[in-house]
Amino acid sequence: MTFKNTLSCAQELDKNDPLRSYRNEFHFPKVNGKQVIYFTGNSLGLQPKRTKKYVDDVMTDWAELAVEGHFYAEKPWWDYHERLAKPLAKVVGALPEEVSVMNTLTVNLHLLMVSFYTPTAKRFKIICEEKAFPSDQYMLQSQARFHGFDPNNVIVEVKKREGEHAWRTEDFLDKINEVGDELALVLIGGVNYYNGQVLDMEAITKAGKSVGANVGWDLAHGVGNVELKLHDWGADFAAWCSYKYMNSGPGNASGIYVHEHYLNRKDIPRFEGWWGTKKDTRFLMKPEFEPMENADAWQISNAPILAVAPYLASLELFEEVGMPALIEKRDKISAYLEFILREIDADVDSSFEIITPKDRGCQLSVFLHGEGKALFNYLMENGVITDWREPNVIRLAPAPFYCSYEDMYRFGQILKQGILSK
Ligand SMILES: *Cc1c(COP(=O)(O)O)cnc(C)c1O
Repeated sequence: MTFKNTLSCAQELDKNDPLRSYRNEFHFPKVNGKQVIYFTGNSLGLQPKRTKKYVDDVMTDWAELAVEGHFYAEKPWWDYHERLAKPLAKVVGALPEEVSVMNTLTVNLHLLMVSFYTPTAKRFKIICEEKAFPSDQYMLQSQARFHGFDPNNVIVEVKKREGEHAWRTEDFLDKINEVGDELALVLIGGVNYYNGQVLDMEAITKAGKSVGANVGWDLAHGVGNVELKLHDWGADFAAWCSYKYMNSGPGNASGIYVHEHYLNRKDIPRFEGWWGTKKDTRFLMKPEFEPMENADAWQISNAPILAVAPYLASLELFEEVGMPALIEKRDKISAYLEFILREIDADVDSSFEIITPKDRGCQLSVFLHGEGKALFNYLMENGVITDWREPNVIRLAPAPFYCSYEDMYRFGQILKQGILSK
């Protein structure tokens, strides 16, 4: 159907949305007693209603069983995290044994760099994107210094061209070939947090591998948002957080992927702990480390069950719906949002600009030329939760699990009012 900037068109789109019932699976905050229009699922996903039970179950087991819960809880704690590997592997395009859940994102990237960034005097450089998420920048700089290098000599940033809002794949490939046999590692955000661009992860991975470098991906904005085929692409490693598109709660456990090729090996540099050793001999408390056969070998501590439980609840939802259906709705609802934005822009003779390129997931980043922060504040006060990034960008992520087409229409009306009232 053709889009129209009308309530009836939006409601018709909702009526035909195969995922419409899932909106009711989530808790929405309220502003002035009304359910908000939530565009920040790329920052903190909404709470699934079913999650509380998963957490309560752990609390009850803890109360009633105490230490015995490790083995006798309904979902015993000692292997609780193993339940996540299979559904999570589907979301990221990996084999179940290549995936594990542990720690938090930046911590995991550091731990994976222990294994996959082993610089030598000749091969020590790291390629990343310019203006990477700050945590990633601090991580790369501190890793370079940790290995005794000056970060300025190690980190090679791929830049956007003058006057352009998106990266070009060929600029990544050219830079990889240029750095060539000095390149130790490519580590990039697969979906950029600022402009919402989805990079050509397959082409970049292959280019990195072809010059002998390791390639890893930060998938904070990719997981649960775009199609990923980590195994087939041949990526060496990846990590992601679970609280953005995966709706598993603030600061909750992160996921990692390590290519099959590195599993079951003792010769890999790795920071090790007791939860990475083979289960059948773990409690013999032996001095030697026997790595688990899967990516759990990278686990150090016993799992934080109260952080993992909401992730399991969320994965159940992903298992039910599946990435293909989410991606189909994502494309349609973000196209509708784009349509609405362009209609409003024309109506109010305003000037904002969508800086997200065609290769995108859920998020549209909108550069506000005139209105700026006052407009952002107006939206927030009127129940539209977006986020603000300096210098003048709001990011809008209509998460397909719970956003409706009617939300998009209503947002357009509020936006128009906001611009006209300035
Ligand atoms: C959200 C995000 C992070 C967050 O890191 P934490 O360690 O979970 O605090 C890291 N990298 C990117 C690219 C992100 O978007």
